[in-house]
Amino acid sequence: NIGFINGEYINADEAVIPIDERGHQFGDGVYEVVKIYNSLPFLLDEHLTRLKESASAIQLKLPYSLDDIKKIILEGIKRSELLNAEVYFQVTRGIAPRNHLFPNVSASFTMTIKPARKVSEQSYYKGIKTITTKDERWANCHIKSLNLLPNVLAKQKANNEESYEAILIKDGYVTEGSSTNVFVVKNNTLYTTPLTNNILSGITRKNVLKLAQKLDVEVLEKSFTTEFLISGDEAFLTSTTVEVLPIRSVNNKVILNGDPGPITKLLHESFRQLYAE
Ligand code: PMP
Repeated sequence: NIGFINGEYINADEAVIPIDERGHQFGDGVYEVVKIYNSLPFLLDEHLTRLKESASAIQLKLPYSLDDIKKIILEGIKRSELLNAEVYFQVTRGIAPRNHLFPNVSASFTMTIKPARKVSEQSYYKGIKTITTKDERWANCHIKSLNLLPNVLAKQKANNEESYEAILIKDGYVTEGSSTNVFVVKNNTLYTTPLTNNILSGITRKNVLKLAQKLDVEVLEKSFTTEFLISGDEAFLTSTTVEVLPIRSVNNKVILNGDPGPITKLLHESFRQLYAE
């Protein structure tokens, strides 16, 4: 497992983070996850743009240009010798004696490259179980920040209930999953939560919406309730890690007959074409 800390490639399993690292102590940083298919980083420019936006939203100056980060990633992929992998990189406000105020040090950039986490094939042809739970996160969920405690608690709750994902509910409406965006198909129209500070602007979400438009699927970016989700004809999750993952049930209520629907399958196939070419 390849790692990278502030200018040096290292063995990710041997890396040590100083106790006074602000990512570690405050979650004071931002991150990205990028998939590598066939040794190529997928949609890298979009991830780098989002990293820059997240960093700027927390007044964090990136220690490298986006071009340099790209070079670091490409070199890391080469060193990893992995064909299919997952790159994780994060930027924190650096290493300084613990104090809430911004320190006067440069930001830390760290990265790991590991074999990609796999979702079981069965999940794709049967669809996965989900639960709903209250969205207890902060007011700036559009920032991809390291503060993931509510997301961790929600995902664990889902797992404890034999489900794959927790769908978060704020003021009666679906925001997103603990690590995914949520889509519903009803009467051949594709619905997903609109972009506000309440959700992350998923790179997969954006590309799936683009594909839907290209394929003449009607799209509505509009908030919906749990009842609407359950009453849909199809539903799915999107993320870099899961791509397009069909939802079988929500709170043990099966959506239609539970099996992945035609628009879900079409969008997943088209999405896979984007990196298979
Ligand atoms: N929402 C949240 C809260 C996430 O953590 C993720 C995963 N990064 C997503 C949505 C999906 O985003 P993307 O498609 O860019 O991976």
